[in-house]
Amino acid sequence: MKPVQSELKKWMQKNKNFKENYLRVREEVLNDPEIQAFLSRNPQLSQQEVDKNLIKLHEYKTQSKQCDKCASFGQCINMLQGYSPVLQTENGEIHLVYEKCHNRIDVEKQREQQSLIQSLYMPKEILDATIADIDHDSERGEGIRQLLLFLNNASNELPAKGIYFHGPFGVGKTYLIGALANALKEYNKSSMLIYMPEFVREMKSSIKDDSINEKINYFKNTDVLMLDDIGAETQSAWFRDEILGSILQYRMMENMPVFFTSNYSLEQLEQQMASTSRGGNETVKAGRIIERIKQVSKEVGLGGENRRDGQ
Ligand code: ADP
Ligand code: MG
Repeated sequence: MKPVQSELKKWMQKNKNFKENYLRVREEVLNDPEIQAFLSRNPQLSQQEVDKNLIKLHEYKTQSKQCDKCASFGQCINMLQGYSPVLQTENGEIHLVYEKCHNRIDVEKQREQQSLIQSLYMPKEILDATIADIDHDSERGEGIRQLLLFLNNASNELPAKGIYFHGPFGVGKTYLIGALANALKEYNKSSMLIYMPEFVREMKSSIKDDSINEKINYFKNTDVLMLDDIGAETQSAWFRDEILGSILQYRMMENMPVFFTSNYSLEQLEQQMASTSRGGNETVKAGRIIERIKQVSKEVGLGGENRRDGQ
């Protein structure tokens, strides 16, 4: 058996260390400029409440706030990866909560965008298209000029109108919007590029699984919507009025741009949309869609050679 005296001494020493540590941490926490700012914003907090929450305050102090101590998402130093601490008060009590940090929000947005782009059945060459690789010629000059103008304005604020590119097969309509989608990523603007025949199929197949409203909302809210080959889809009154009509109406009201590519001019598209699979002629409804397209985009014709020749 150890002598009682020495055990007592040890215990006292430990207790002393603990006390010293506690006082040191307390001082560090209370001298931290951010904690001081928090306390002076909340003079209602009692000293007792502050002392009771020293551990929370210490945790707040050591964590990276909105990525200020982290080089990138992969190098997050926080206990909860990708979450940033916030101090709040309620009824005189201190609460420490965590919210998503900027880096996590960016990464999630990118992932979401990428997974969506993959599900849209675009050929790889279109997804890899870049503005720098666009070759210019006089028959496409106006189209390219309009595209660059849009992009230039988009670095500031997205213009309310996109472009309706129409022209023959193979002149590079899809290529141009693919290049734009890539350039917009750099401005942190989301874009969604979908091939119209797939769009109709995808929406029809999601009626069953309840995901349709979620998808419609995504098309409404993406920064820039791009509908490739409008007019090439099977015409359906339901898709035209309930899906396309509702998305375009929303974007028109919110001043959000839409890009289109088509083999048809708007005048031709109107006729195409008036005849549906039911065999009726619905001129008024088709006219309404064309009006909305005009509100969300500018019509530009593209000419030139068919670039798919010789492939
Ligand atoms: P469209 O949509 O008008 O039918 P695409 O955009 O699919 O035509 O273009 C046809 C082919 O030409 C594609 O293989 C595309 O990669 C290529 N292409 C089109 N425009 C360009 C360009 N400006 N620079 C390089 N390749 C292009
Ligand atoms: Mg195309």
